[in-house]
Amino acid sequence: MSDSACGLVVMRYGEVFLKGDNRRRFERLLEHNAEAALRGLGPLDLERGQGRLFLRTRPDQAHAALARLRYVFGFSSVSRAVEIEANPATLESEAVTAVGQLLGSWRPRTFRVRARRSDKRFPVISPEIGRRIGHALGEHYGLQVDLERAECTIGVEIGSAASFIYIDRLDGPGGLPVGTSAHVALLLSGGIDSPVAGYLALKRGCSLRAIYFHSPPHTSPYALDKVERLATRLARWQQSIALHVVDFSDIQQRIRKRAESPLLVLLYRRAMMRIAQRIAQDNRCAAIVTGESLGQVASQTVKNMHAIAKATDLPVLRPLLTFDKEETIALARRIGSYETSIEPHVDCCALFVPKHPATRVPPQRAAIAEARLKLGKAILRAAAEAEEKRFEAVWD
Ligand code: ATP
Ligand code: MG
Repeated sequence: MSDSACGLVVMRYGEVFLKGDNRRRFERLLEHNAEAALRGLGPLDLERGQGRLFLRTRPDQAHAALARLRYVFGFSSVSRAVEIEANPATLESEAVTAVGQLLGSWRPRTFRVRARRSDKRFPVISPEIGRRIGHALGEHYGLQVDLERAECTIGVEIGSAASFIYIDRLDGPGGLPVGTSAHVALLLSGGIDSPVAGYLALKRGCSLRAIYFHSPPHTSPYALDKVERLATRLARWQQSIALHVVDFSDIQQRIRKRAESPLLVLLYRRAMMRIAQRIAQDNRCAAIVTGESLGQVASQTVKNMHAIAKATDLPVLRPLLTFDKEETIALARRIGSYETSIEPHVDCCALFVPKHPATRVPPQRAAIAEARLKLGKAILRAAAEAEEKRFEAVWD
């Protein structure tokens, strides 16, 4: 790629608390994940330098690249940029040309310049760089400087890895690069909560596989289709996701026919945990993630959560534990799962639910009721026969 045919995208990451080996691992994964997110977008050249990653790509791909990079956890912000030569004599003229390319036909009324000089060998200090470029841009494009409420921020960075002019910082997703924490199994229903719980686990560096329980013929194929679309949505943050589809109908029927009604939901959940644990362990997952939130429904009291979690040896992570429903809905809208989640097809847990579920079941009572059902073999079978599917990220 010649320089003139090259669009630059700058990605910033700011986990300042990272030190030594941790930092190297963080950076390696960040680069790997950015590369994976950009796959299929044509020639790529990624380079690392001073808390930044630089992507050189075809200019017509820069917007698409930018959109995808906003799904890579670990980046605090991303910007389109144009590379310049770090030469004090040509600083102003280079800036004028670069800003012309970045603005296209758009002319903001007001602007400000932010300058940063990380290469201290460059002989002009940051405020002076800002002042000189600000003056040149004002003259050339007839733009007004407004330091408080500028319509457009133009940045200059003079660094040893690259020097460039950028326009506007778009927020990145923050968080930690996927893969820096554990591989975990997300219990993904078609509801609003579990996709959001999965997103939050991804945000703190977990990689996901999903598990869905359905009860054909009582649950419709549309409910499964909905979960597959939710999994596809989550794949945007890790490129590709496995979904294990478990046939829960036999177990659910047995519980429904033989257990006392107030305990039904709790016993469904414990059976799910047991099956999930087997799938999780076969796939080296270190934890099970759910969309449970304290006090939301009868099965989500502290006591019942305890009785449910007792069915597995794995840690149960509940990222939404303290969320109000409104907060979860706001996040679901932001990550693009909400519209799918509210489609009317129900999952198996909305079936055969008693009018008055017990809200405070001690683990011991749950265990005794469960033992009577002799579900051991059925649980092994359901886990062994689960169908594993894979979904790739789909970009607009
Ligand atoms: P969601 O909106 O995620 O369905 P919810 O508020 O409806 O959650 P429950 O239905 O009680 O709550 O489920 C609690 C959690 O149990 C879910 O967030 C999900 O992690 C898991 N879960 C429930 N049903 C299923 C299912 N059919 N398949 C997979 N996981 C499930
Ligand atoms: Mg639900």
